[in-house]
Amino acid sequence: MKKMLLFLLFLSVLLFADNEKKVTLQLNWLNQFQFAGYYIAKEKGFYKEVGLDVDIKEFKPNIDLIDEIKTQKADFAIGRSSLLIEKINGEDIIALGAIFQKSPLMLLVKKSSNIRNVKDLKNKKIMITPDAAFSASLLAMLSANGLGKSDFILQKHSFNINDLINGNTDAMASYMSNEPIILKDKDIKYKIFHPKDYGFDFYSDILFTSSKFIKNNPKLTKDFYEASIKGWKYAFENKAETAEIIYKKYNIQNKSYIYLIKEGEILEKLAQINGEEIGHLDKEKLKNIVNVFKLFGLVKNDINMDDFIYDENPHKTMSVEISDNEQKMIVISLVALIVFFIVIIYFYSKSRQLKELLHTVINSTDDLISYKDNKLRYLGCNRSFEKFRLKKESEIIGKSDFELFKKEFADTFYYNDVKVLTRNKIIINHEWVFVGNEKKYFQTKKMPFKYKKGKKEGVLEISRDITELHMIHEKLKEQAYRDELTNIYNRKAFNERIEEKFDLYKRYKSKFCIAMYDIDDFKNINDSYGHDIGDKVLIEITKEVKQTIRKTDLIFRIGGEEFIIILPKTSIDEGFNVIEKVREKVTTLNIIENKKITISIGITEVKEEDTQISIYERVDKLMYVSKHEGKNKTSRD
Ligand code: GH3
Ligand code: MG
Ligand code: MG
Repeated sequence: MKKMLLFLLFLSVLLFADNEKKVTLQLNWLNQFQFAGYYIAKEKGFYKEVGLDVDIKEFKPNIDLIDEIKTQKADFAIGRSSLLIEKINGEDIIALGAIFQKSPLMLLVKKSSNIRNVKDLKNKKIMITPDAAFSASLLAMLSANGLGKSDFILQKHSFNINDLINGNTDAMASYMSNEPIILKDKDIKYKIFHPKDYGFDFYSDILFTSSKFIKNNPKLTKDFYEASIKGWKYAFENKAETAEIIYKKYNIQNKSYIYLIKEGEILEKLAQINGEEIGHLDKEKLKNIVNVFKLFGLVKNDINMDDFIYDENPHKTMSVEISDNEQKMIVISLVALIVFFIVIIYFYSKSRQLKELLHTVINSTDDLISYKDNKLRYLGCNRSFEKFRLKKESEIIGKSDFELFKKEFADTFYYNDVKVLTRNKIIINHEWVFVGNEKKYFQTKKMPFKYKKGKKEGVLEISRDITELHMIHEKLKEQAYRDELTNIYNRKAFNERIEEKFDLYKRYKSKFCIAMYDIDDFKNINDSYGHDIGDKVLIEITKEVKQTIRKTDLIFRIGGEEFIIILPKTSIDEGFNVIEKVREKVTTLNIIENKKITISIGITEVKEEDTQISIYERVDKLMYVSKHEGKNKTSRD
């Protein structure tokens, strides 16, 4: 009973363990420190703690982040301030938080270019992505400095910092946390023009989802967001560790460890401004961003920022999601219900009906079931056991195996029973048992069992006659190692036996020889007399060879008309004599009338430095020496 309860407890633990919900987060760029908080939340188990299994997906070209959320391919995604444009245009977007209070996007110029301020960019080449929504803060900064689109040369962004280094462009839209690190590394002095310094303060890396998703998963959303922020805090507080995790597991861009730490330092400054909590979204700031978009004609209308910013405690939530606590309650109730039924069944088992039911079940099986007390005397058995012993249960009860079986068997049974009782373990044996004159192969399972109100422990035994199965199994095993035509061992068997011989050689210096022979001009035999006669030749030669070699020698057919003989505990001189006898004997055979059949042989002795391959190659070469020297010959080394 106690065990049953423990099992149920275990079951409920399993239920909880298996309860992790799959969540997908779509990133808006390749793996780098920019997403550190999410990796940390995953790697440090913050997501797991709240029952989430988060799949973090890297950005791929042609991915439309809004679409990913809309089509539910992703549950959460990372977007830029331009999400506001999409929202105003009617997309269902809810921003959970902005990781970077200040966007890392800025214009980068080389110090040597003599561009001292934004105004100096007049008539210069500037690389900005053509996407106005993405580049709005940069365009606004230029515009505020009197530079309209016609006042500079807009170049297509190459995303290659060498274009700035080599002077193919004068200014490049860059990320604070990327390109400056590369320039610093190369010792190239640079200058940054950041929109924020001109009043265009944008957010970046806004974690978002849809209102539909939040409505269906309010708790999940809250848990995911909180675990992510926890991840971010940890990432910034432990930059070295975080960099190491990214370096090892998320380093698609092959950044160096030091680079990743530097990236982390810069991003931390962008994430925590004015002591605000990571992720903070400010309505006024969002409105200002919308105003910049309006300035560039990207949007016309305003929106209510309350509809854009995530509210984790909405006033009226229509929740259909079952919370973790509710789930726990359901599982506990279920477990309680099962316990209740078990208790009922337990007490009911005392009643006659259940006893009878048990009896019927036990007696309907062909397995032999018996049970003994702690002194190994039979307490009872089923009908199959009665039939097997040719005795009634009443004659068996109270007896020991020594009174029922021959001593040699009883000894084994006794030994195994004692093992079960002393080790308190289930043991499984396979054994041959005589039933009358018949030998049967039994699989026997013995296990401890409690009787007399569970106070005493005896042995329950279930035996199954698996003779037929065992024979088939043995036959199949044997077949796998036999050559069908000649009925001698095959190459598979050779590979295993040669390994054995090598083991013996290495351990006990037990020398051996191997010989290889191949029938000469066998193709001619097949061609002239037919394949069947060819087969007959193979069979007859094998018979003769088997008779000529010693009992301890082993013969294998390793290919069409190629054979190997292992001669254990044999020196090369002895081996050569045996094998020469084999060769001569074959020449005297009269399998095909007036046709002398010969074989060519190689023989070698194992050497200190030999491997299975080297010895095989050597004997093969020796056999070919015999072929080249006119066949019907034995070559040795
Ligand atoms: P060599 O003296 O150089 O060994 O010449 P060969 O003709 O014996 O050698 P080759 O390797 O050219 O030919 C071997 C032939 O053995 C080719 C193949 O058809 C035949 N063979 C392989 N296995 C069997 C088989 O199981 N039965 C029969 N009848 N022939 C077989
Ligand atoms: Mg041959
Ligand atoms: Mg051959």
